[in-house]
Amino acid sequence: EEPASNGPAPAPALPGVRHVIAVGAGKGGVGKSTLALNLAVGLARLGRKSGVLDGDIYGPSIPTMLGTDRYQVRASGKTLIPFELHGVKAMTIGALVDDDKPLIWRGPMAHGAFQQLATQTDWGELDELVVDLPPGTGDVPLTLSQTLPLTGAVIVCTPQKVAQDDARRAIAMFRQLNVEVLGLVENMSFFVCDHGTEYDLFGRGGAELLASQEGIPFLGSLPIHPLLRVHADAGDPSANFDRDESLKASLEGICRTL
Ligand code: ADP
Repeated sequence: EEPASNGPAPAPALPGVRHVIAVGAGKGGVGKSTLALNLAVGLARLGRKSGVLDGDIYGPSIPTMLGTDRYQVRASGKTLIPFELHGVKAMTIGALVDDDKPLIWRGPMAHGAFQQLATQTDWGELDELVVDLPPGTGDVPLTLSQTLPLTGAVIVCTPQKVAQDDARRAIAMFRQLNVEVLGLVENMSFFVCDHGTEYDLFGRGGAELLASQEGIPFLGSLPIHPLLRVHADAGDPSANFDRDESLKASLEGICRTL
């Protein structure tokens, strides 16, 4: 008799996709979706074929940040046609979620929906598919992390001690799943005022310290920058690279580590 299996079935391969990179966070609101999208856009600008898969079922924000919320997902038979904007192919679990009706997802249900979304989307040839996971280390993010053949995971955290504790749990989750932690990004690291003075609002450097304690690479930091929020709300991520040299440098620096 077969032993009962607890975990989901093995992740199906995504033909044509060379690397699947998850972006995770110990909790919500730290900039996980912002980083996931800007990584995909930044990689495309460095000449890679990139895509972004929005799996944040609790609050899919990629559609707004990429400007696809104005459009319906198109399908051809069972194949979903990804959006193509800012050089990036994109698909969102938001296509399956009603904006006004909060859905209660259990692991198996989220697993099924997410797997279908990933495998039925016509990604073509991609060097990197960046996946925006739900925050935290609960049942749903854990299950979704096992749904795709991940090359590795990037973890976002803000500098505070409490944020590091959350990030440490996220690192432990990926390690438990045998997913390589590619590194840590510190978001909201510092704030630069109009006069150029830098303020370490949350205690800059916390994530770098955590990375060294955990023996994982530190991939770089992003400042608190009003334009990051403005361009996210406007659905124009390319503007982060075109309108501000320092943002461009920070984002490209992180992309080059991947
Ligand atoms: P998460 O995916 O972790 O919940 P988001 O990426 O959705 O977080 O970011 C939450 C909000 O904070 C968004 O409005 C986003 O535009 C804003 N934001 C994220 N990072 C920054 C930053 N470094 N500077 C300014 N605003 C930011």
